[in-house]
Amino acid sequence: MMRKPEKRAEMTILEIEKNGKPIGRVGGDFIESMHTTVSYRNVKRRVRLVSTGLNIPDRKSSEHVHWFEAVNLEPGDEVRIRVTEASNADPPVVDGHYGTFGPEDGPTAFYCSFCGAEASADVKVLVGGTANICYTCLRRHNPDRDKP
Ligand SMILES: [Zn+2]
Repeated sequence: MMRKPEKRAEMTILEIEKNGKPIGRVGGDFIESMHTTVSYRNVKRRVRLVSTGLNIPDRKSSEHVHWFEAVNLEPGDEVRIRVTEASNADPPVVDGHYGTFGPEDGPTAFYCSFCGAEASADVKVLVGGTANICYTCLRRHNPDRDKP
């Protein structure tokens, strides 16, 4: 069953700015974890800022999310992250579903809890009470898979 947001006035959010301009207000009612990262990759000589997280709307489903497209940072740029309390945040963008969704929000959809593959005619997913697994992951995690 999909949890309903508790009637609460405030939640912890991150207000993120680059050079004094708002980039995002990161947070949400069912956010289990959120990560704001500045990374540098030598191959591309690029510094980037991202905010990602894990949303858990109920005990049988979860979503990997992000709040804004990766922001490129140049020498001299300043990033400010302010931890604050607010009644709302920017709605996150879902990157991947894991587990069982619905039927409260529409047709029930089943996703592998390990790789996020959606069940279909071509993708078989074993559905469990708290987790699902597709046959690809089942074979991958089966130590006896290569035995006759
Ligand atoms: Zn899988």
